[in-house]
Amino acid sequence: MELPFAESYKIKTVEKIHRSTREQREKWIKEAKYNLFNLRSDQVYIDLLTDSGTGAMSDKQWSEMMVGDESYAGASSYYKLKNAIKDITGFEYFLPTHQGRAAENVLFSAMIKEGDIVPGNSHFDTTKGHIEFRKAKAVDCTIDEAKHTELDYPFKGNVDTEKLENVLKSYPREKIPLIIVTITNNTSGGQPVSIENMKEVKKVAGKYGIPVFFDSARFAENAYFIKKREKGYGDKSIREIVKEMFSYADGMTMSSKKDAIVNMGGFIGFRHKEHFEKATMYNILFEGFINYGGMSGRDMNALAQGLYEGTEFDYLETRIKQVAYLGNKLRKHGIATQYPFGGHAVFIDAKKFLPHVPKEEYIAQTLAVEIYLEGGVRAVEIGTLLADRDPVTRENRYPELELVRLAIPRRTYTDNHMDYVAAAVINVFERRNSIKHGFKIVKEAPILRHFTVELEKV
Ligand SMILES: *Cc1c(COP(=O)(O)O)cnc(C)c1O
Repeated sequence: MELPFAESYKIKTVEKIHRSTREQREKWIKEAKYNLFNLRSDQVYIDLLTDSGTGAMSDKQWSEMMVGDESYAGASSYYKLKNAIKDITGFEYFLPTHQGRAAENVLFSAMIKEGDIVPGNSHFDTTKGHIEFRKAKAVDCTIDEAKHTELDYPFKGNVDTEKLENVLKSYPREKIPLIIVTITNNTSGGQPVSIENMKEVKKVAGKYGIPVFFDSARFAENAYFIKKREKGYGDKSIREIVKEMFSYADGMTMSSKKDAIVNMGGFIGFRHKEHFEKATMYNILFEGFINYGGMSGRDMNALAQGLYEGTEFDYLETRIKQVAYLGNKLRKHGIATQYPFGGHAVFIDAKKFLPHVPKEEYIAQTLAVEIYLEGGVRAVEIGTLLADRDPVTRENRYPELELVRLAIPRRTYTDNHMDYVAAAVINVFERRNSIKHGFKIVKEAPILRHFTVELEKV
């Protein structure tokens, strides 16, 4: 008998989670104004809201917490992290920050000014937010293949280098401070970028003298997909691939809450001293002295250890296989999902799932609420609520795709939990024809409304 695949770790500490009845959930979600962000965590049985900061630290990370050096300046924890970043990414200079968007805030304060153009592959929402906050413009140059959820294409996160070069040609050099390549491409569904594409982007950027920064939250998952899918990389180790990936960048921003498997933290990596020096002042102003930048010594220690664990093949294989395990269960039942599955989540195509709900009644949100009611599973809407209103007309922006994201926290749930999630989604699917109506908004914020929106049943 062939030995089956099994997890590459065992469990040392456990945390109780809470079951509930459908009756309780109906009451709670109504009190939460049908916004899943308003639920208390103990009203949720399996929480797939996000994979950000929700992972389980290892015994080695916890032991690193105990030996953190809390000195203000020159702490050994700072040097431990500096060495780990140099070792894994190759970047000589770095600044610690308290999370990924703080890294964006510091870097963009140094590099982006009003009227600038920042091309990239579907910028993440906080990245775009920090660009637009500075009255600059994020231009999406993702390949068109990314828009087709069911199209089997290995690197749906890639930058379309023709689109990119058109942008670079259309504006004067001083209007384009940097190019941002997001690995993996979160917005397009956790889809990877190939090494070949990184190389091409660097070449095009070099022609125009523009630096390339990687938004690197899921860089290790990206490396795993390169190993599995890109010609010539099957025999390379994850760390070798990661080194090569970053050799095509001038720097990186990192949300360590993702692939570095810590609950809080971030950093910026730089190849060039002048970029590092320019950003230093903003780091001190916004985050803290450059030896800690918003993190305690113990957090920097756990992060350094997490960078090594997050780039181990066995860990990555366990994680990415779990995502595919859940995804395949849904697909086998005829549920349309983004395919191939990305590294961190399964994205359900809500328009195909609930054909009777009109788009004005928030299709993906309707599905996310139904999944919660069915099994106490919390997912998140990536659809019209997230897309906000047009800033000029104040009309709803209806995105082409209405998605429900089931994000899988790292090393947190077992495959039994995935079976449970799949059963809950499948039960909703079986009664999909009886779901004809969704929600209307009773209260919303002018931007980023999805976090606080209040809804009522139609
Ligand atoms: C999460 C994330 C960020 C922002 O990081 P935070 O730690 O949440 O502030 C930026 N870019 C990408 C691609 C991300 O996934």
